[in-house]
Amino acid sequence: MSNLLGATQIRELATKLDLKPTKKLGQNFVVDANTCRKIVKLADIKSSDIALEIGPGLGSLTLALLEVSKEVIAIEIDSRLAQQLPITVATHGVDTKRLTVLTQDAMQVTRLDKEPDVLVANLPYNVSVPVLLNLLELFPSIKRGVVMVQSEVAERLVAKADSKEYGSPTVKGNWWADLTWAGGVSRSVFWPVPNVDSALVRFDRHAPIGSEAQRIKTFKVIDHAFAKRRKMMRSALSELFGGSAPAQEALIRAGIDPTIRGEALTVEQFGQIAQQLS
Ligand code: SAM
Repeated sequence: MSNLLGATQIRELATKLDLKPTKKLGQNFVVDANTCRKIVKLADIKSSDIALEIGPGLGSLTLALLEVSKEVIAIEIDSRLAQQLPITVATHGVDTKRLTVLTQDAMQVTRLDKEPDVLVANLPYNVSVPVLLNLLELFPSIKRGVVMVQSEVAERLVAKADSKEYGSPTVKGNWWADLTWAGGVSRSVFWPVPNVDSALVRFDRHAPIGSEAQRIKTFKVIDHAFAKRRKMMRSALSELFGGSAPAQEALIRAGIDPTIRGEALTVEQFGQIAQQLS
């Protein structure tokens, strides 16, 4: 029934390419068609949607995305995998005109010829947070998505204030979108089997919280607050405001208790503090 890749096809492709998956590039390929369909379903893709996929690898998720979307743009750093992808897609009877493969580092992408509506990716783990935040910043057309990341990273992305997982990735992610836990993924669906757990995060972009200039200032405050997360805000922000007395005054003007810690503040509150920066 399935026209997707299973364990046997993944092995065959890896043998054909003489591929030795590397940890450096986070190369753990999904060998289970049901997992791919589940991920795609969670993203609520419409037949008119252009999907962006980062790190398509051998194409497990790409084929599932092509079943439901209008087009897929796939960005893959490993040229052997990027070259093989259209061949795999054609072999599965899919029109390759619906697929654009860019052989590129996702961290270096600054523009795309088409505007993606949705992001779906089993992200390379070592760059998952910066890739996600960059894409949310660069491509406002992306309205929602589902990403697979290391479980610990997923916990951080969806954390609530006042928890130990709550930090810079959470607050920065919240600048752009509502992030929700969308389920754990068994290690057994990957080849090779990773030594960390994985989980899915769904995001839905919300209305902009502020202008780009405000965002830049807010992210600066967030960076300072979480660089010294055990400190009270007046001392965590002292360098940024030129001393703890001016930091204290700025926090009071922003309506924030100067003795609070960053992990208790929402992104909107970070925005209020940032407005005090000249
Ligand atoms: N999507 C495939 C799957 O689910 O089977 C592969 C996912 S694997 C976890 C991550 C993929 O991202 C690999 O194919 C790897 O080569 C690619 N990759 C790693 N770093 C990258 C980067 N900076 N930019 C683009 N692709 C990258």
